[in-house]
Amino acid sequence: MMEPDRCSRCRRTAVAHQPYSGRALCAEHLVRDVESRAKRTLRQQAGLRHGDRVGVLAPGGPYGEALLVFFSRQFAARRDLALVALVPGGAPPPALPEGLEAAAIGDEDPYGAARRLGCSLLALPATLEERAADVLGAVLAGRPAALAGPAARGGLRAVRPFEHIPGLELRLYLAALTGAPPAPEPLSSAGPFEVFVADELARHTAGHPSAPFALVRLADTLATLVSGEPDRC
Ligand SMILES: [Zn+2]
Repeated sequence: MMEPDRCSRCRRTAVAHQPYSGRALCAEHLVRDVESRAKRTLRQQAGLRHGDRVGVLAPGGPYGEALLVFFSRQFAARRDLALVALVPGGAPPPALPEGLEAAAIGDEDPYGAARRLGCSLLALPATLEERAADVLGAVLAGRPAALAGPAARGGLRAVRPFEHIPGLELRLYLAALTGAPPAPEPLSSAGPFEVFVADELARHTAGHPSAPFALVRLADTLATLVSGEPDRC
């Protein structure tokens, strides 16, 4: 019988493997790793400010649910923040973790809905693969200006805390916290071009595991340049 893989941190049985880092992680260290990376990304993007009302976009499926769980675990206890789950129509309402109120937004644009509901920050559940495919698709379609997000729109800041985390690790994170078996990869509702881009990216990533990270970092760098931070000339 083969020895099970061991966590690189504590030698317990590993539940997740990171081909891009060479590490294996047990359930507990995966949860810590996902949350510390998501918090770092959140700080790098727009951060949380005192008095923020945060709209957490929660479409049906594991990534919206993981985003709700992440915000609930990390920030529900903060008295200076309000957390609102924005639930699009058609999505089955997610099980709402502690500390969040919910607002059904139907098919309204999430940015418009967040502004209407008085949010100052919108959190989007995009995964590494989704964000990297957006970046690659924008380049291939000749729309590099689309890479400038997530910038402030009409006073609303937007963040994607999971954009450096592979979808599989997020599904395992959710499973580790809920005790349910890991959700399968959700079916994409994207059009043929988006499906083509996602397939090409997945094929390339099989041989070059760090490629999607490089694409997302490129978009982040461009967004910083475009937003023209005041301390830069
Ligand atoms: Zn461990």
